[in-house]
Amino acid sequence: MSEPIVRYNKVTKYFDDLQVLDEIDFEIKQGEKVALIGPSGSGKTTFARLLMTLEEITDGTIEVEGDYLWHEEDENGELKPASTEHQRKVRSNIGMVFQHFHLFPHMTVLENVIEAPVTVQGRDKDEATKAGKEMLDKVGLLDKADTYPAQLSGGQKQRVAIARALVMKPKVLIFDEPTSALDPELVGEVLDVIKSIADEGETSMLLISHEMDFAREVADRICFFADGKIVEDGPPEEILFNPKSDRLKEFLERFM
Ligand code: ADP
Repeated sequence: MSEPIVRYNKVTKYFDDLQVLDEIDFEIKQGEKVALIGPSGSGKTTFARLLMTLEEITDGTIEVEGDYLWHEEDENGELKPASTEHQRKVRSNIGMVFQHFHLFPHMTVLENVIEAPVTVQGRDKDEATKAGKEMLDKVGLLDKADTYPAQLSGGQKQRVAIARALVMKPKVLIFDEPTSALDPELVGEVLDVIKSIADEGETSMLLISHEMDFAREVADRICFFADGKIVEDGPPEEILFNPKSDRLKEFLERFM
C-alpha cells in the first residue's frame, strides 16, 4: 500500500467561536481522486483551503508527503511552528482551482499561466513559456494564448485557471466548486478537462462539487461532510446508492 501523499490528523478549525471542523482524520493516496460533498456551510471549502494554507489551522496537523504544513520538527523531533519558508516549500506541492477563476485581468492568457512558475518557482522564462503552452494545449486553448481574460467565456477562463494550476506540476490539485459560477452550457467543457486530467492518473485530486454524476464518474472515494465531521467515506457507489446515515440520505434526496 503506497504512503498517503496528504494526511490530516485531528484537524480542528474555528472561526472565532464557530467550530467548522472537528478533529478530522483524512488521507489521500498518490493519484487518488477524492470528492467532498455535503450541505452548504459544512466546512468543505475550509477543509480544502487549509491544505493551501489559505486558512490558519486551529488544532491538529496536516502532512504532505511526510512534511508538516503548519509545523516542522526540531533536532529532537519535537514539533514547532513552521517557518514561512518551510510552509511555502511544502505547499508548493498543492494547486487549487477556485470557483471564480482568479485570473489577472491585465495579463494575457499565457502571461497568467507563466506568472507563478517564473516569479514563485524561479523557473526560466523560456522553459515556463514552453510548459505554459503545453498546458494551454491540454485544456484546448493554445489559440487564445495572446488574448485577455475579458475576451473569454467563463468556461474558457476556468480552463485557463486549470492550465495555470497544472503548469506548477502539483502533486495534489484542489477543485473548489469549479463549475458553480458557470452558465449551464459551459459546465461540460470544464468537466471534460478535469476528467482528462483525472484519467492521466498521476495527480491526486480533491474535488468539491455539487455535480454528483461527475463525482461518481471521476472519484475513487467520496467523503460526506456534516457538522464538522466526515460522516461517511467510501467508494462512490456505496456513498451515493447505499448511504448509511440519515444525514446523508436526506442530503442525497435533495440532490439526486
Ligand atoms: P462549505 O464549503 O461546505 O459550504 P465553508 O467551509 O465555506 O463550507 O464554511 C463553513 C462555515 O464556516 C460556514 O458557517 C461559513 O459561514 C464559515 N466561514 C467560512 N469562512 C469564514 C471566515 N473567513 N470567517 C468566518 N466564518 C467563515
